[in-house]
Amino acid sequence: MQSLVTNFSKSFFKPANLRFLSTAAQKFPSLIISANEYIPKGAYAERQAEFLKPDLNAVKKIDDVLKQKKIAVNAHFYMDAELQGIITACQTPNGVFIADSLAMADQCVKQVKSGFKSVAVLGVDFMSANARAILDKEGFSNVPVYKTSTKPIGCSLAEAAEKDVYKSYLLTEKKKAGNSPIVNLIYINTSLPSKAMAQDIIPTISCTSANVLRSVLQIAAQKPDCKICYGPDSYMGNNLEVMLKHLTTQPDSEIKKYHPAHNQKSIAKLLKNFSYFKNGNCIVHHMFGEKVVNNIRENYDDAYITAHFEVPGPMFQLAMEKIQKNSGTVGSTSDILNFIINKAKSTDESFKVVLGTESGMITKLSQMIQKTLKEHGSKNQTIEVIFPVSNDAVTVSNDKKLGIVPGVCGGEGCSTEGGCASCPYMKMNTIDGLLHVVEMLNEGKTEELKEYEVKNKISDNIVDKALKPIFAMRYFQKNKEFPEWAFQS
Ligand code: SF4
Repeated sequence: MQSLVTNFSKSFFKPANLRFLSTAAQKFPSLIISANEYIPKGAYAERQAEFLKPDLNAVKKIDDVLKQKKIAVNAHFYMDAELQGIITACQTPNGVFIADSLAMADQCVKQVKSGFKSVAVLGVDFMSANARAILDKEGFSNVPVYKTSTKPIGCSLAEAAEKDVYKSYLLTEKKKAGNSPIVNLIYINTSLPSKAMAQDIIPTISCTSANVLRSVLQIAAQKPDCKICYGPDSYMGNNLEVMLKHLTTQPDSEIKKYHPAHNQKSIAKLLKNFSYFKNGNCIVHHMFGEKVVNNIRENYDDAYITAHFEVPGPMFQLAMEKIQKNSGTVGSTSDILNFIINKAKSTDESFKVVLGTESGMITKLSQMIQKTLKEHGSKNQTIEVIFPVSNDAVTVSNDKKLGIVPGVCGGEGCSTEGGCASCPYMKMNTIDGLLHVVEMLNEGKTEELKEYEVKNKISDNIVDKALKPIFAMRYFQKNKEFPEWAFQS
């Protein structure tokens, strides 16, 4: 299924105004995938490819204990290639789940209901805290949740919503709204306390990168005078505003394809009522800057372009141009995955695709591409996945918490100039960390395990408040409209 953004007007964004820098940029690493093999180009891709065929001893070691001790593993798509390669090769039925943050919390509950006695959450801290709180809420406080690191694992985006500046933004917007109705859309990648805090100030609804545009259009359709705030991802907020501005230039017939209740006038009104938080972003998607985009334009004009909704303007614009040619998508990690697999199913020609999101996606993506090529592909068909990162993208971090981070220390690596597409927080989850936790569980080292156990620091009251925005989003996903209670404090 394509994202709503992908379906956007074919007349969207004209390339004429773009600035091209004359660079002799080096080519990005890539992984060529055929039905039966992986051919890496560049050191970074070699490392990714190496772990697509995991160490079977490590797989067996983990898998045996997962089965015996009934331990579920719940991991985010952005885990490193070694870790993902091993856990996806485990055979414990329903025991290993890899997805985005929203699906992870739901799956934890399902895993426990199906008989697992403990859960290892591989992600950042707000994800393991969510899993703990939701399991408690569902009556499973006896089931321990473990991290694989004893260090705090942050997230620049979730932390942006924890800062006073986000609270001030919400208070200011509420004040500006006066007696007018107002609703706040909060991105799913935030902690439960942040959602509860927002809900205390303004009626709040959660959204994902896949449904944010639909949510904004639906709120305005149901409540035409409602002020709408969005946060904390500033690039996504800006990208949304750009889209809405573009819509105001489109004929009503075109606008109705995106929402039947809207026309030029209603979108202009929505735009006036819309604001977004301007101080938060994901450090990974932030790296898809102008330098990266110029390299793509120079060297990969023939490739499909995928971009996460959290990317900065230049990458967003490039992907939107490609959408006009049916050669790109903008959306969530799942939207990107679906776009590439659907392209693979629809042709027996080889093609290239730029992966405009965190590079950890490659494990799941490679496996799905190989399966698709085996079932639908032609004999010599290949799909080349291009990573917009440096060939030698590994460096030592001065941050003692992080140690080694993916990306060189300047230029096309982990720098504000662009390039690194790997989350250093997510990479704090390691195979050694998981092995250690699994071994301690196997040996019954309960005292040592306490250091890794996630404790619930969130009161029931906060959990209830924080779940309301999520329930409102779920209601919308199911019923295509928001319930009245979503607009009330
Ligand atoms: S990629 Fe890393 S920094 Fe970005 S939202 Fe995810 S966890 Fe946070």
